[in-house]
Amino acid sequence: TRKEAEEAIRRSNAAEQDDMHALRKYSRQEYLKKREEKKLEELRDDIEDEQYLFDGVKLSEVEQREIRHKKELYELIKKRSEEDDNVNEYRMPDAYDQEGGVNQEKRFSVAMQRYRDTHAEEKMNPFAEQEAWEEHQIGKATLNYGSKNKKQASDDYQFVFEDQIDFIKASVMDGDKFDYDEMADSIEKSKAKSESEALQAERKKLPIYTYRDELLQAVQDHQVLVIVGETGSGKTTQIPQYLHEAGYTKHGMIACTQPRRVAAMSVAARVAHELGVKLGHEVGYSIRFEDCTSDKTILKYMTDGMLLREFLGEPDLASYSVVMVDEAHERTLSTDILFALVKDISRFRPDLKLLISSATLDAEKFSDYFDSAPIFKIPGRRYPVEIHFTKAPEADYLDAAIVTALQIHVTQPPGDILIFLTGQEEIETAEEILKHRTRGLGTKIAELIICPIYANLPTELQAKIFEPTPEGARKVVLATNIAETSLTIDGIKYVIDPGFVKMKSYNPKTGMESLLVSPISKASAMQRAGRSGRTGPGKCFRLYTAYNYQNDLDDNTVPEIQRTNLTNVVLTLKSLGIHDLLHFEFMDPPPAEALLKALELLFALSALNKLGELTKVGRRMAEFPLDPMLSKMIVVSEKYKCSEDIISIAAMLSIGNSIFYRPKDKQVHADNARLNFHTGNVGDHIALLKVYNSWKETNYSTQWCYENYIQVRSMKRARDIRDQLAGLLERVEIELTTNTNDLDAIKKSITSGFFPHSAKLQKSGAYRTLKHAQTVHIHPSSGLAQILPRWVVYHELVLTTKEYMRQITELKPEWLLEIAPHYYQQKD
Ligand code: ADP
Ligand code: MG
Repeated sequence: TRKEAEEAIRRSNAAEQDDMHALRKYSRQEYLKKREEKKLEELRDDIEDEQYLFDGVKLSEVEQREIRHKKELYELIKKRSEEDDNVNEYRMPDAYDQEGGVNQEKRFSVAMQRYRDTHAEEKMNPFAEQEAWEEHQIGKATLNYGSKNKKQASDDYQFVFEDQIDFIKASVMDGDKFDYDEMADSIEKSKAKSESEALQAERKKLPIYTYRDELLQAVQDHQVLVIVGETGSGKTTQIPQYLHEAGYTKHGMIACTQPRRVAAMSVAARVAHELGVKLGHEVGYSIRFEDCTSDKTILKYMTDGMLLREFLGEPDLASYSVVMVDEAHERTLSTDILFALVKDISRFRPDLKLLISSATLDAEKFSDYFDSAPIFKIPGRRYPVEIHFTKAPEADYLDAAIVTALQIHVTQPPGDILIFLTGQEEIETAEEILKHRTRGLGTKIAELIICPIYANLPTELQAKIFEPTPEGARKVVLATNIAETSLTIDGIKYVIDPGFVKMKSYNPKTGMESLLVSPISKASAMQRAGRSGRTGPGKCFRLYTAYNYQNDLDDNTVPEIQRTNLTNVVLTLKSLGIHDLLHFEFMDPPPAEALLKALELLFALSALNKLGELTKVGRRMAEFPLDPMLSKMIVVSEKYKCSEDIISIAAMLSIGNSIFYRPKDKQVHADNARLNFHTGNVGDHIALLKVYNSWKETNYSTQWCYENYIQVRSMKRARDIRDQLAGLLERVEIELTTNTNDLDAIKKSITSGFFPHSAKLQKSGAYRTLKHAQTVHIHPSSGLAQILPRWVVYHELVLTTKEYMRQITELKPEWLLEIAPHYYQQKD
């Protein structure tokens, strides 16, 4: 039956993960050693490749630096691994001697420094999703000794207790001055009442409640108000409700923007619940590809990106009476652009109220930007928090986080744990390992309830993190940065902070963008620690040393606008009629180089003409809430009469890499099923199209998905996105046509959007990008990984141990001259 099938799949997935983890958990030294050896080998190959390739060629400054850097890195790692052999340092953390610790610190800062210098060369996180996968692919052979794995897995349980991490208590972060006892009292009292009464009572206990009337007065007196208050004080959930109660929704909606989709959804759900209405009616949310609002909606939570898009349809935001730019301190790209746009419309819409709310105290900057708008401070109620650092740097923070959580669980008084991780894969990994280890310990320890929270978590599961922890159990929340300020989870007493976050990093010279696991800032570290002191005195365990904190972390996170690709934003601004980007009122202007790069690319995509004005193509592209290269691919499909096929591909690409799965006991089957779609070496894009079309032919059958090792949930999402793209095609008056018999037409459409991502095979088996001569490789998940076509066009780059191209299609070089002669005119 379906249930059984699902269960079997889930089990085998878990078993597979277990084995992988068993392998790497078994011995940290061995794992690190292997990893290092692999990295060395790859570096050596790369260096040799490049020496061969560039022999006699004049290298640019950047290329020379790259090669030099690789050589240095190679030497460094080699030296380090020799040292390790001699000193035998990489043992359990408690075996570090004084000297070892110092050496390690040096390494840590060398690594940090290198990270800063190059931004991309070496990843700090040893266990990112890709790497795990690659290793899995590369090391399939070594993973096949099933029975041995079982033994390793059982030894693993011992490891939990052998492996302790030493912390040093460093300081206490002071709490705020308020009456602790009274607080605790009033929490008790609320328990007896009916649910809705209890909810209303809870609302009244939030710090913001005391300031309700003052706040409403301030909003009435000023058009723009900056609001500052500790996370959890009630800004996001309460302020829109207060404004509604005060009548602001009579003449328009209240918009409240969030940098993250999960936050928008979760907060909207909470507010709907507090008001006793159905989500999507009076209270709704709007995120990309999902609009959960109706004609009734008066409180609208939305991502900052969605409000930005609303400007396209309604340049004066006439349907809103209040715009609250929430989480302003996050300084996401869209938030920064919103600042300028709302400031602009507030000048000719005096009735529009503007609230800028932030969780950090440096609100002066916002106030200054908005012509000295008044700052409304909501005093916090934070309890003191003890800060602990590790004695020595931790080589594997994921492992260290898990060990620390278990250590807390067995040694510390009741209170929930919050662990900050960098992304979905890592959270899933941690969840599996934790389950595995606690299962092994059986009844020896109290129950540990594991709650993951990340962007793609299904809505039903998101609610779980807010459920109260049952008596005698302990909850451990595995969260991305979303729990830093966007979501408040009550009852957290212990925070584990590995000190990393996944961030976009962009090199304006090459136009290459990668997601990178990077060290957090001191400001983030303080926010994270603060999460443990909300309902009582807390403890924060930092998985780095006090030295690292002091010397290696920046004070503040660099605003996204200064480290990202601006193509999308420039296209949006241009379509809003904002022409003079150099004089646009940015709070912190982006590097001029990045702006130029974006203009250049939009020009190459024919979205802008030589004067920098929006073309017809550009106007159509701007209608799609997608990366401009994807939008271009869609718009141009009109010419190649394959718009139906192209939007299927675009929808499938938007899902990311969660379409196929590979259960441990059926890897061969899964791989075969997958290869079926690659018959004829059609490339990954066409394979995705085939998957979609075959599913459609079975009338979107769930059974078919199981048989073909495809995730139903991802497919449903793709279908949903595809439907929306079809609607947008209609809007820009492009006919729906299909052309599956002419694969070249489809590939030409793809190339028309992605020609800046072309690469050519080198003798070494690696590829070089045509435009910037970067060395890149085909990702092992590609259907073309064994084929190695001479010319390819790729969807995206992911950086792990190497720079990998993901989703690849073969290309005929003459297409480049046909499609983008202006871009590829010079011969190399
Ligand atoms: P702020 O925006 O100032 O950080 P919030 O308004 O988000 O504060 O949170 C106020 C309170 O509402 C917190 O105690 C938080 O736990 C609670 N809360 C927020 N969202 C939810 C939810 N989805 N489920 C349950 N409680 C929630
Ligand atoms: Mg908030």
